Amino acid sequence: MSSPRVLTVVGNRPQFVKAAAVSGPLRQAGHETLVHTGQHYDPELSRVFFEELGLARPDHWLGLGGGTNTAQTARQLAALESLVAGHDTVLVYGDTNSTLAGGLAAAQARVPVAHVEAGMRSFDRAMPEELNRVLTDHLADLLLCPSATAVDNLRREHAAGRVELVGDVMVDVAALVQPRARERDAPLERFGVCPRRYLVATVHRAGNVDDPRRLARLVDLLAGLPGPVVLPLHPRTARRLEETGLRPRLGDVRLAPPLGYLDFTALLCRARGVVTDSGGVQKEAYLAGVPCVTLRDTTEWVETVQAGWNTLVDLDAVAAARALAAARPAERPPLYGDGRAGERVVAALRTFLDSGAP
Ligand code: UDP
Repeated sequence: MSSPRVLTVVGNRPQFVKAAAVSGPLRQAGHETLVHTGQHYDPELSRVFFEELGLARPDHWLGLGGGTNTAQTARQLAALESLVAGHDTVLVYGDTNSTLAGGLAAAQARVPVAHVEAGMRSFDRAMPEELNRVLTDHLADLLLCPSATAVDNLRREHAAGRVELVGDVMVDVAALVQPRARERDAPLERFGVCPRRYLVATVHRAGNVDDPRRLARLVDLLAGLPGPVVLPLHPRTARRLEETGLRPRLGDVRLAPPLGYLDFTALLCRARGVVTDSGGVQKEAYLAGVPCVTLRDTTEWVETVQAGWNTLVDLDAVAAARALAAARPAERPPLYGDGRAGERVVAALRTFLDSGAP
């Protein structure tokens, strides 16, 4: 196909980062229409990423954030129905409600679905993200995997679509942004921290912040970490801290609104350690050579744990402190590709469409 017409559906912060790796090569090869569902609508979680990552303005803004996962997915699904028609492929990313809504709207309309970051599994069906991943993978026609583990997961589940190992698109973005971000002193000065002498933390998973008892444990863990801790607060977490009155218990933790990608990357790259329940941040820490402590008992990015750079501690404060005190591993192999995953996504898409599939 000479110039494929692709509808890209994005809705939240990590998806803007992932789409930034693919959008450039995609627009060279064909025509991209960008839909922003509005799942993340705060300027710090949305507009700043478009500006900093050079993403084109969305062609469609749906404004469909808020509500329960079910209600949000349903509203997005209904709104996307009329947009998918006339496209050769719908491209979706990761594991959000926008991913599932985009995938299902396309599959119902018999428009081929390509899923970037296919095959990732935590094997924890209590996570809304896990449901979105599994369902999207099983309705997708082209499954674009970041790792061999992801490919194996799809084979084990007998996913029907075509499976391709392309590497991780976030590596492409990290390779471009991390060297620039390392030069930035202003974010460190803003929080009064020195390189390699502080921790940077992010927390927002529903499983950690929606249950007040777990949130209290989380707050105590963060407040008890050794050394200065910088914590840009995800709006969901900020809301829960207000509702529960737990915010003052964070003590000396240095709080901020969500940071732009460049400032956050600057803080991440120069930290002594990262403490997070984010998927993307675990991997970015690995790519930056910063040890990570993950406040979950599962991860999709198992290779970072196997390589010794990431430790799963759930909300065990003692285990977190022990992991942060441990020596760094000597080696850091390139686990997720060579930084050219975006090009491979586009090449795989073209081959797939040229073959007349599905
Ligand atoms: N991030 C950011 N500013 C922040 C916190 C995170 O730019 O204050 C970036 C981070 O570098 C990563 C992405 O947001 O690329 C991760 O988003 P999030 O943790 O919301 O999603 P997840 O990866 O858990 O799906």
